[in-house]
Amino acid sequence: MITFDNVSKQYEDGTKAVDTLNFTVNKGEFFVVIGPSGCGKTTTMKMVNRLIDPTDGTIRINDQNIKEGDIHTLRWNIGYVLQQIALFPNMTVAENISVVPEMKKWSKEKIKNRVDELLNLVGLEPETYRDRMTNELSGGQQQRVGVARALAADPDILLMDEPFSALDPISREQLQEDIQQLQHKIQKTIVFVTHDMDEALKLGDRICVMKEGKIIQIGTPAELMDTP
Ligand code: ADP
Ligand code: ADP
Repeated sequence: MITFDNVSKQYEDGTKAVDTLNFTVNKGEFFVVIGPSGCGKTTTMKMVNRLIDPTDGTIRINDQNIKEGDIHTLRWNIGYVLQQIALFPNMTVAENISVVPEMKKWSKEKIKNRVDELLNLVGLEPETYRDRMTNELSGGQQQRVGVARALAADPDILLMDEPFSALDPISREQLQEDIQQLQHKIQKTIVFVTHDMDEALKLGDRICVMKEGKIIQIGTPAELMDTP
């Protein structure tokens, strides 16, 4: 599904953020990228939807080099959920979720049905939440709306960059469980960044361990636990 082939990224100031990354994320897989702050996790994610481009190497999605395709088509096929909740504060929950469907000029009817379907999916009762302002919601509720918004146009890939790390431990645990359930229901390919090994072991089908811009290990939770 997603293939990194000798991918490196050096920023303009000379920082080598990632160095010769090689890995494949399979279709429908929950793939966790873990490592300490500054090891290149966010850089890796941003290259997948071309917020930045590699200085070397090739990234392919479904065998297509992403640099050769249309960037809007690429981005519509990728939902992105960030740590810092990035909802539009002066818009309702429904308006936030509708941004990409509106751009795609879906009918009002189709958008409304989709909003309600997504709210149910992320565990927010549509009647109660659809018309709420997002800045009136708790952190956990806002992050649920963030997930719904990322899924709005039914992308194949969901990128999640430390999505739960700003939450209190209870909301965090609840959302971890819910994202697992959601993954079973919707079978998206998920790339999930964290610096928390417990979270990685709990959620990942496979875990990619990064250190100083390099991959030092990739394996299932059982394989990682077996390593001395
Ligand atoms: P992580 O997400 O694992 O914390 P990042 O991918 O954000 O790591 O950063 C990897 C390295 O690249 C760090 O040394 C960071 O300081 C550096 N870096 C990130 N963004 C930029 C940038 N825009 N310009 C220069 N260096 C950057
Ligand atoms: P959580 O445990 O999910 O993080 P909180 O304790 O933050 O929940 O919030 C509990 C309730 O208070 C939620 O129903 C939320 O909608 C509401 N709430 C939180 N912050 C605000 C706010 N600034 N204005 C109005 N309601 C809020």
